[in-house]
Amino acid sequence: MTAVLFDLDRTLIDAQTHTDYVSAAADVRAQIGDWSDVAVPDTEWDAPTVECMATLVALSGDDRWDAVSDSIERYELATAARSTTMPGLADALAATAHLSRAVVTLLPERAARAILNLHGVEIATLIPRRSDYRPKPAPDQIVHALDTLGVAAGDAVFIGDSSWDAQAAGAAGVRFVGVTNDGVSTLPAEVEAYPDLLAAVGAALDSARG
Ligand SMILES: [Mg+2]
Repeated sequence: MTAVLFDLDRTLIDAQTHTDYVSAAADVRAQIGDWSDVAVPDTEWDAPTVECMATLVALSGDDRWDAVSDSIERYELATAARSTTMPGLADALAATAHLSRAVVTLLPERAARAILNLHGVEIATLIPRRSDYRPKPAPDQIVHALDTLGVAAGDAVFIGDSSWDAQAAGAAGVRFVGVTNDGVSTLPAEVEAYPDLLAAVGAALDSARG
């Protein structure tokens, strides 16, 4: 293994808990109506959060995508400063400092970078949600991360906390290692998963050595 890709929200840092996706979803509905009726992986995210993200999945390739993403981003930026680090973050970053790394997130670039900077996460390669490629659970963001890092799928691990992450990794042919956050995050039973970020990083590194 030469590269590790991280989901951001509730894997490295918790921003979602503090983000007003209720208001964001209402804004999106006022803007374009209900576009959230699309098949996406089951998740424990609350309904407005799912609605926002599923709408962006449904709108992939639609010329309204940027306007809708910007509406949601207003709320994501507004509460970025309230985000909190997940347990073990500093140790997890230190343990992976020798690897190529990227953050692959459903957050947009400005909000994601603000959140990473706030907590001193120095990972230069950030693959946020943007209209150029389909968001997770599609494989596109992970494929773009691998291309950017110059790493083959078989040489990378993706660490994330949601079924959307697991599905994206599977579709990209990248090994997935899940973080359940002591049961707060729910993942499919067949997924390799650990209770916290540091344990997931440890498992990824251990099997890479073996
Ligand atoms: Mg997450």
